[in-house]
Amino acid sequence: MAEDCIFCRIAAGEVPAEFVNEDEHFVAFPDLHPQAPVHLLVIPRTHVASLDEAEALDPAASAGALAFIAATARAAGVAKGGYRVVANTGPDAGQEVGHLHWHVIGGKRLGGMA
Ligand code: AMP
Ligand code: ZN
Repeated sequence: MAEDCIFCRIAAGEVPAEFVNEDEHFVAFPDLHPQAPVHLLVIPRTHVASLDEAEALDPAASAGALAFIAATARAAGVAKGGYRVVANTGPDAGQEVGHLHWHVIGGKRLGGMA
């Protein structure tokens, strides 16, 4: 756990968030500033700074990541209509929180990719 990391603190239950899905490796909760009717964040419970450090993730967590994201989208009710998964990585992508996370965005017809 990185002491100054807000997402580590959320995963540890020190900062409140509503877990809409969770397992041994990941938790999912609503983004504080939603950009769409459904806007969730999926994060690993362990601190990994970004997708650029993917190799630091527990191999078992890596193996389950896509299925966890898909199950989260299904539980949020956006699987049928469709959704977008985004991992902002580094400055050019505008990554603000230095703990790996995937945005799961849906619930409306989304605009084009930047
Ligand atoms: P990114 O630009 O990909 O690093 O996005 C970070 C996201 O984390 C932003 O969409 C923020 O709204 C969101 N965020 C920051 N702090 C919190 C928090 N305490 N709870 C939920 N979402 C948060
Ligand atoms: Zn962290």
